[in-house]
Amino acid sequence: MTHTVTFIPGDGTGPELAEATRRVLEATGVELEWDEQPAGVDVYEEEGTPFPDRTLESVRRNRVGIKGPTTTPVGSGFRSVNVLLRKELDLYACIRPCKAYEGVRTRYPETDIVIVRENTEDLYAGIEFEVGTADNATLRATLADLGQVVREDSGISIKPISVFGSERIVEAAFDYAKANGRSKVTAAHKANIMKFSDGLFLDTARRVAERHPEIEFEDRIIDNLCNQLVSRPEEYDVIVLPNLYGDIVSDLGAGMIGGLGVAPGGNIGTEAAMFEATHGSAPKYKGQNKVNPTALMLSGVLMLKHLGENEAADRLENAIAAVIRRGEKVTYDLKPTREDPSAVGTSEFADAVIEALG
Ligand code: NAD
Repeated sequence: MTHTVTFIPGDGTGPELAEATRRVLEATGVELEWDEQPAGVDVYEEEGTPFPDRTLESVRRNRVGIKGPTTTPVGSGFRSVNVLLRKELDLYACIRPCKAYEGVRTRYPETDIVIVRENTEDLYAGIEFEVGTADNATLRATLADLGQVVREDSGISIKPISVFGSERIVEAAFDYAKANGRSKVTAAHKANIMKFSDGLFLDTARRVAERHPEIEFEDRIIDNLCNQLVSRPEEYDVIVLPNLYGDIVSDLGAGMIGGLGVAPGGNIGTEAAMFEATHGSAPKYKGQNKVNPTALMLSGVLMLKHLGENEAADRLENAIAAVIRRGEKVTYDLKPTREDPSAVGTSEFADAVIEALG
């Protein structure tokens, strides 16, 4: 069966990483048809939008895509392509596997966790009231009527967490655990302090867990989880979190497995799924054939699994792991020192993975 996939090269180092990833995905033998579409600063300069309608329509049509990173210039009216994609397609679950591959320098070689982050609610919902504005004053007056006094010189961000949003993200975590042979889901929260938002998340998670008795369930307070992740990472498996904690713990996980160059991700919704690396467009290395394509290639592994191509996904992951383990044909960031002259480029790393695939 041929899978049609929206292919977004992105900008900065994105196109080099995306091309390397396309080559290794094709080398698995899975029949893939690429519907290539633009996004990011390059198309913005040509067409005045970083995310043309045709790109969104393509993702809607194909329901699956892989994307190189895209730059979000600071201080312009430019909206993040990733935020637009998440909002337009309701990509509510961000899946970030954090696995330490042998050969990558890390203090936490036992790490093999999967972060499942809620993507749409929480303090990131964008419900904000700027200090000194009329809306801020109205909100504070309403709160005062309810007996809650907020200082006049406060900026206010609202943290909505719903049963609907919590239920579907925890279900997504259990689904992922089952589909990938994982045995435990941990829900992280601060329900002891935020009883009506994190508390609701925890109650909902417990209820969802009852529907999945074959998977172990536990919960952790978020600060304790962070402490334990760096002291006993081997005790964790799939971790499901509301948006803000999920964002922070995802980067903690990326650090534990050796950095941004090796951290993959996928944003999944009911209408579509988009796979991309955790890192950004690293624009200072643009066009240098230098940066590490592992994160995007591993995002491609996630995409193959999403498409039901599990055998090819395992072969590709094993080939990437073998190249990293040998440590010869790897990019500068995976060498003992960053100036190591034996480091290869993005494209040669892809050649080595294709060779390892046989
Ligand atoms: P970045 O991730 O692009 O780069 C930070 C540093 O990490 C780089 O200088 C480099 O040293 C290292 N790095 C990143 N990717 C690497 C790789 N594949 N191999 C080796 N080293 C790598 O972060 P930034 O500089 O903060 O952001 C640059 C741009 O990317 C910004 O405009 C930001 O908004 C955007 N961004 C996009 C995405 C996305 O498209 N998903 C995600 C994060 C940031």
